[in-house]
Amino acid sequence: MTATRQEMACQICLAPLNTLGSPPTYVHPIQLTTDGHEPVPVPVSQLDTVHRTCDFCGDPFPTWTLLGGDVAAIAIGTTGGLVQNFGHAWAACATCQTYIDDGRNDKVIDRAAQTLGLGNHPEARERIQQLHLAFLNTRVPGRTLITTTAWPATAITARELPKVRDRLARFYRGSDHLPLALADTDARQQIAAGLDRSRLFWIDSDFTDLAEYAAQKLPDVTISRDLMPSTDGLLVWSRPVTRRQITAASWTTTSDGWHLVNYRTIGGGLDGRPLQRLREHVGWLAPMSAVQVHEQHLLPGDHSAAALLATWLLVAQQAAEVTTAEIDRVLRRSYARTNRPAPEVRVVRIRASRGSTSPSTRSAPGDPERSQTSRFWVSGHWRNQPYGPGRALRRPVYINPFLRGPDDVPIKLSTTVRMLGSRKPKPETS
Ligand SMILES: [Zn+2]
Ligand SMILES: [Zn+2]
Repeated sequence: MTATRQEMACQICLAPLNTLGSPPTYVHPIQLTTDGHEPVPVPVSQLDTVHRTCDFCGDPFPTWTLLGGDVAAIAIGTTGGLVQNFGHAWAACATCQTYIDDGRNDKVIDRAAQTLGLGNHPEARERIQQLHLAFLNTRVPGRTLITTTAWPATAITARELPKVRDRLARFYRGSDHLPLALADTDARQQIAAGLDRSRLFWIDSDFTDLAEYAAQKLPDVTISRDLMPSTDGLLVWSRPVTRRQITAASWTTTSDGWHLVNYRTIGGGLDGRPLQRLREHVGWLAPMSAVQVHEQHLLPGDHSAAALLATWLLVAQQAAEVTTAEIDRVLRRSYARTNRPAPEVRVVRIRASRGSTSPSTRSAPGDPERSQTSRFWVSGHWRNQPYGPGRALRRPVYINPFLRGPDDVPIKLSTTVRMLGSRKPKPETS
């Protein structure tokens, strides 16, 4: 793994690949147990998720890439070798990073020894220490956030969204690096400024289901300003969506188009100081992929921004009922102190059909009845419809996206429909 050669991972198992010889052949790491498939190398930059582990301790949720001395292939341990061919870029988990920052390398060695099943064996610990120090003693200042780690999802509530946004903007303005598309300082500053101006949207769970379902069938979409519910925005779905497992997306208007960024939540499963530090230094969201798009840019339906586009379109076509979430007083006061207008979070729900009430407003989350009653039926498909001056423009409109009645009344169906969720579609009734 070097900065000059593009890092590769296996498209099948998403493990980073090691290289052998020259010209290089790509091999799975030796400690990796696979089903025997041949590695299919693709550049890491093309993957949203890479199954990397912490190079210090083996933790499956590495957070930072550190640069240091080039530590050549060394293999130790018998219970699943931890170490090989690290090169000069090492992945560190949040816990190891916290110990390294605090000068507690002994704690990092404890973690590695535990992973390797070496216990307190003094000689083994010394070997690990030598290895770590060979890297750390030549470490270059700075670190890069690893954005491809598949963290367990963290729920973000509507009320938390202003804080989540502010922390993200601060991270963009900070000195920790980001890979690839977001390595550019100008883009980071633009996105940070855009986040400050952003309208905040929190998508409730039913609307998230609808948006995800609709995103899977999205046709090509021509980008234009009037698709967007605001000039700049940050939108959070109530759970990760699509196979990319995106939790949030932002759009930022620039002089010649927009930055669109997808995010995943980070830090799930951490606690104590490593979690505190991560929240303080990064926040809740890590950018997964970023693109620049321009007015009248045609984006294919399977574009990385499909979930965002589908959600915009559904909001634009009045499938949404948008209300404002209450923001707690402490947060409002802290905004007032810095002369910022009180933050507003728009909660997006499915617009209730005739005579019914949105179940989200009637039953509490976690209510066991909820999963039975709040399902909606979907038979939707996208159709390009003319709009705008002279009806010369076309945009996809989702047709007949859902039918819904009051929670306690069975839904009568007059068309073939498909239900989201685990239950099988019911036969037609009239
Ligand atoms: Zn593989
Ligand atoms: Zn670690």
